[in-house]
Amino acid sequence: MRQLTSWMKQARSLIAPSQTECLFCGRRGRPSHEWPGICVHCQSGIPWIRVPRCQICGRHVGCPDCSRSNGPIPIVCNRSTVAYTSDMREILGQYKYRGNERLAPVLGLMLDRAYALLQHEQSGQQLNGASQSNLFSKPFPILHSKLRMRSNLWQADLLVPVPVSAVRLSERGFNQAERLAEVVSLQRGVPQLPLLVRTHHTAKQSFKSRKERLADMKHAFAGNTDPVVLQILKEYLHSRMTHQLEQRPLRIIIVDDIYTTGSTIRACAGALQQLCRSLDCTAEIYSLTWARS
Ligand SMILES: [Zn+2]
Ligand SMILES: [Zn+2]
Repeated sequence: MRQLTSWMKQARSLIAPSQTECLFCGRRGRPSHEWPGICVHCQSGIPWIRVPRCQICGRHVGCPDCSRSNGPIPIVCNRSTVAYTSDMREILGQYKYRGNERLAPVLGLMLDRAYALLQHEQSGQQLNGASQSNLFSKPFPILHSKLRMRSNLWQADLLVPVPVSAVRLSERGFNQAERLAEVVSLQRGVPQLPLLVRTHHTAKQSFKSRKERLADMKHAFAGNTDPVVLQILKEYLHSRMTHQLEQRPLRIIIVDDIYTTGSTIRACAGALQQLCRSLDCTAEIYSLTWARS
């Protein structure tokens, strides 16, 4: 009898999954089937950037930044998953500053939507309304490796997370960008490699003006000179030759949690270009960020 009761309990929990606290709002709402850990209410409120208005930085609203005279931004384009609304700011704050690492999988899967968007754009595919809404409602389309291999869609070669300083890493215990990149890397089968290092600790960027940020960030990053990382990169470049992929530039995606002025991405892209040049490799650099302010 006891066995039967426990079996009934299990069966019931399969039919109606227990309502655990939503990672976004903390309430016990009906769980979303598509986005693990969040409730359907929060899911319906995600401010997806479905159609970027600025083709360069992926901003959803009119963008004066990209037309300013800071010289050309050394990336092909940035794509972000969500608009940085006050709700999204709260969620990013929980993840980044209050150390809620449990948010990493769902935020990573959300970031993967920006990858999917970039992939379709770069493959020259026009998305109609239905396939676009599918893109933002189904987070697990291509975990299957056979599907991935069969796909003729554009694919990146490497993901490079924006590094955090040693000070920040010990404060936070994890690199928020690296955790997000891990999810995209798993989903897409695109390797992640720490090709960048932080050369100095910069004070919190959120309190600074645009001009201060740009100046501050200029020399904040450099190519990673770790011999193991460089060896992996060299072997990877060599394997591209055997697969005759070296005719096209190496496609690198910088991954970060947020794109504000673009100063971080700009500095990272500059450092990556320098690293690639030193290895006689031409690179095309993109960026994926979870939020666009
Ligand atoms: Zn919720
Ligand atoms: Zn822009």
